Amino acid sequence: MPLPFTPRYCAWCGGALVSTQGLNPSGPPFYCSACGLPVYEDPKVAAAVIVHSSQGVLLLRRAQKDGAHGKWILPGGHVDRGEVVPSAAQREVVEETGLLVELTSLLGVYSYQGNPWVLVVYTATANGGRLSAGPEALEIRAFAPEELPWDELGYESTAQALKDYLALNP
Ligand SMILES: [Zn+2]
Repeated sequence: MPLPFTPRYCAWCGGALVSTQGLNPSGPPFYCSACGLPVYEDPKVAAAVIVHSSQGVLLLRRAQKDGAHGKWILPGGHVDRGEVVPSAAQREVVEETGLLVELTSLLGVYSYQGNPWVLVVYTATANGGRLSAGPEALEIRAFAPEELPWDELGYESTAQALKDYLALNP
């Protein structure tokens, strides 16, 4: 999920941003040419959940028309600014699958060089709601470990989280 743009204008005064060309790796990547504000590009935080049951792990087929369209991903999404991360994970699961879940563990934190996203993955079991695909899913189903669609997963982090989950739950 790379960000498709670099910032061009100052969010404070609207002045044009100037790149520092990475000359000072510990400094900001941009300065505002008008007010001098240093501008950093912060990471983006997302949360996803491995919802497991006797039928297996719940995956959904992504409806959004981007690079992962039609691929299988974990339910999850953006953490809003000021939102508690586990609450965001539970919110995303109910929005995308209709299920209320109880988080059972923090599985891992996944990030990649040059990629702005930091993904926090929990495991969970369903404790209410009714399974139904939200607008962001073409399809939802549970996969037993031997059925997991390794060649059709949406993101590197999806595959890594599933491998980590299976290593802990053989
Ligand atoms: Zn400015």
